[in-house]
Amino acid sequence: MRVTPSTEVMYLKGVGPNRAELLAKRGIRTFEDLLGYLPFRYEDRIRFAKILEIAPGQTYTVQAEVLSGSLVRYTRARGGVYHLFVRDSSGSLSCKFFHGNYLEGKLKAGQRIVLHGKADLDPNRPGRIEMINPEYELLGAGAADSTEVGRIVPIYEAIGGITSRVMRRIIYTALENLGGVIPDPLPAELLARYKFPSRRDAIHFVHFPPQTESVEALNSFRSQAQQRLIFEEFFFYQLSVALRRKAAQQQPGIAFRVREPAIREALKRVLPFKPTEAQKRALGEIAADLERPMPMNRLLQGDVGCGKTIVALEAAAIVIENGCQVALMAPTEILAVQHYLSARKTFARAGYAVDLLISGMKPAEKKAALERVRSGAAQLIVGTHALLEPQVEFARLGLVIVDEQHRFGVLQRKELMEKAALPDVLVMTATPIPRTLSLTLYGDLDISVIEQMPPGRVPIETRWSSEAHLPGVWEFLRRESSAGRQAYIVYPVIEQSKSAESQRSLKAAIVEYERLQKTVFPERKLGLLHGRMKSEEKEDVMERFRRRELDILVTTTVIEVGVDVPNATVMVIEHAERFGLSQLHQLRGRIGRGGEKGTCILIAPKTPGEDARVRLETMVRTTNGFEIAETDLKLRGPGEFFGTRQHGQLGFHIANPLRDFELLELARREALSLVESPGAEPARQRLLSQLPQEWQRRYQLASVG
Ligand code: ADP
Ligand code: MG
Repeated sequence: MRVTPSTEVMYLKGVGPNRAELLAKRGIRTFEDLLGYLPFRYEDRIRFAKILEIAPGQTYTVQAEVLSGSLVRYTRARGGVYHLFVRDSSGSLSCKFFHGNYLEGKLKAGQRIVLHGKADLDPNRPGRIEMINPEYELLGAGAADSTEVGRIVPIYEAIGGITSRVMRRIIYTALENLGGVIPDPLPAELLARYKFPSRRDAIHFVHFPPQTESVEALNSFRSQAQQRLIFEEFFFYQLSVALRRKAAQQQPGIAFRVREPAIREALKRVLPFKPTEAQKRALGEIAADLERPMPMNRLLQGDVGCGKTIVALEAAAIVIENGCQVALMAPTEILAVQHYLSARKTFARAGYAVDLLISGMKPAEKKAALERVRSGAAQLIVGTHALLEPQVEFARLGLVIVDEQHRFGVLQRKELMEKAALPDVLVMTATPIPRTLSLTLYGDLDISVIEQMPPGRVPIETRWSSEAHLPGVWEFLRRESSAGRQAYIVYPVIEQSKSAESQRSLKAAIVEYERLQKTVFPERKLGLLHGRMKSEEKEDVMERFRRRELDILVTTTVIEVGVDVPNATVMVIEHAERFGLSQLHQLRGRIGRGGEKGTCILIAPKTPGEDARVRLETMVRTTNGFEIAETDLKLRGPGEFFGTRQHGQLGFHIANPLRDFELLELARREALSLVESPGAEPARQRLLSQLPQEWQRRYQLASVG
């Protein structure tokens, strides 16, 4: 049969039903998908390193022969360590595989093996070099297979039992079968302008790089072929964003009245304090959007504590004055309740009706709230994901506000928008995203930034202490408490885990709460707050803490976002080495919200792992959310940083917005000019009409073109 890029992979030699199923789980169904599964790394297997020449601290690829291997079990740890000895013509090398049980019986003396990893000094045997958890690949018996050695070899992430080596075979066969029929969706004019190779050449190149290519260039994704494929992903992604944006701008939205004296009066009545210049500017931008007859799509970005809430409530007031409803969605119940309480206070003088909708409500209360939402009696509805449930029907939803947007998926924002014809949308986030990345993630949004803190804030002091200093820390808490201030003590887990080994030694909120109350702070009132408590219990504890009936709140990351109790000035985070950097910054943002100086004490070992050290040092050094986000992004990479779900939705195979931001800018410019300059209309039509269906679907271009 004649294969095309859209032929299914199960027709490929070497891919049976089992493998086809494995591949399908990774979204690989067609030849095209398979060729889009790109190597994450390359190995130089033309010039292997000699074992004798290996020096500690460097990374090597060696080709060797297995001498022996055995599993060493240690009594306590459940996973054993697999010790492997190999040799080449120059010498022998020892390797250790932690949790290496799976290797038992798999490697046999005499087998040829390729090892890739970093060489280290063996701490137990001075002067000896070893590799810890190297990547390995067994070579086939007999003559060297030309896809395995003697060339620059692409390394693929294994998919179940489909190892990198199997993947190379399959992809090789796929390319053979296709015989060079790989269409190019990029406009020829762009290819020529940037001197990019054709898609066909680029695909061949990345799977079978020529011997003359430098491995370094390949591994840093700088070859022309890789750059082209990266550009391609960004280009179509940005094209889809730009088209969606254009389509949205052409939709009719509600043109709210903003300038009338009655509305100005209402805004003044609602405002509890003098807004900062930055808050005024942000509200001005939002008001201008509200006034326009097309739906607003705006991101309000500003560091923790800069005062986004009041800006959102002012926007809500405009919409309510226009006779429409406003929905405010928060990621946690605690935050939803807090917004509900503060909105009720803020809106009391204006007489707006505020309602709460969370899943932990009593059925009768919930029913009543739903009815008020339906009838239009509820003017501001604050809630959690519960707002997305189908039985929630709004009478006249005019504005959707999503707080702490980074905690929600893009899809959830859409779901809420679909509750009304075309509401205006305001999303807020404290995660200061580097500009290029916000273009990728929120490319369809306009952005307002609050880059200024309310007046009178004193910078928080952050210290890193070890467990040994806890008595002194508790003493400090006692003094602050005597001076009338409140404190949070944060733990990484609610309860000690009996099963998860990695968590067994962690201090847990419930146990520590009891211990601290009994033995450390018997004369103070402590509260306990964690995510597994019932909604009412959570509300009750938060309310008592707010009213200063509690001196110290023992808690977990449930308070990470949004919680606002200005009298709390101290935060102690135990096992701080376990928390992510953005998470630590968010937690710390709970204090230093009033005019008093805040103190954050991170309890962590003196010598934690390398990444943990960077995180802790960054926290001590700076309170600048932007700097912290950049460091976090560098430590974790964009996928982790935004949560896997969001990353997955972006659907990039090879492009990495952080590493490739120059190409991202380029692709964005090209996509925009194709969508926005009037002369580009024919070119755009041509491009979209020739783009294969799969591509349209992949970049969601079909629905918007
Ligand atoms: P975030 O942007 O993190 O959501 P909030 O909206 O919770 O911050 O505001 C943080 C604190 O600062 C709140 O206690 C709020 O009342 C206070 N605040 C906000 N704006 C001002 C202002 N212009 N003047 C004084 N206090 C303000
Ligand atoms: Mg907030």
